[in-house]
Amino acid sequence: FIKTYSEKIHYGGQFRGIMLVMRDVTNEVEIDRLKNELVSTISHELRTPLSSIYGFTELMIERELSPKRQKTYLEAVHSETKRLSLLINDFLDLQRMEADRQEYEFESFDLIELIEDLKQFHGLSSTTHVITVSHDVTHLLIEGDAKKIRQLFGNLINNAIKYSPAGGAIDIELAVRDTQASVAIRDHGIGIPTAAMGELFQKFYRVDNSDTRKIGGTGLGLSICREIARAHDGEIHVESIEGEGSTFTVDLPLRHPNA
Ligand code: ADP
Repeated sequence: FIKTYSEKIHYGGQFRGIMLVMRDVTNEVEIDRLKNELVSTISHELRTPLSSIYGFTELMIERELSPKRQKTYLEAVHSETKRLSLLINDFLDLQRMEADRQEYEFESFDLIELIEDLKQFHGLSSTTHVITVSHDVTHLLIEGDAKKIRQLFGNLINNAIKYSPAGGAIDIELAVRDTQASVAIRDHGIGIPTAAMGELFQKFYRVDNSDTRKIGGTGLGLSICREIARAHDGEIHVESIEGEGSTFTVDLPLRHPNA
């Protein structure tokens, strides 16, 4: 983005020419965009849980409630508090990563094992989706921060669940491509409009339509995924057809390129 100013130059009472000043304001435009997105995220994502916490606690203070009712309200307060704390953690995580202050503890581990473990975890919590894992090799050794890699794939599996209808299949395929371990996560959900593809990994970006508004989210998950992949010299890509589904692919360097 370029802003242009012009000014007439007079010298000794005579018109001498026009001075043209062009300023690159790309950074400022980007900061403005982030500010707007931040404000709208805060208003949706912070206000909604806060007002329900406020409402439930007010009811509990003012009314005589049966123990059963009390428990229901407390559970609601608990889950809204958890939502707030996840949001704040995501935000702080991302700030740390972007400022290169995130510390990664590298170790070598089997990516297949980690994904199988995640599947188990999500499979247990999601009775609504059928998750399958397939691989054409028995081990995929990589070098990385297992906790962060778990967070990366956890986010992608969560999104696949979130953005596809109950009963949908989620297929995770692991393979070797040259010196890379490649993991594809395919869902058969709402898909992503072509126009949104370029911005998908930006902080706070969310596709804005009636489906995604209902589903809710912060727009931070994918930017966190991209930062984690970057810190491991990896890459993340997406292919999608609106209304049919999406495939997110993550490539990470293998520990032994020739194994
Ligand atoms: P959030 O899910 O919290 O909104 P993300 O950063 O994880 O944020 O994703 C950004 C946006 O990308 C989402 O709001 C959604 O519009 C779109 N998106 C991500 N994953 C999928 C998917 N599997 N299917 C369809 N849309 C997706």
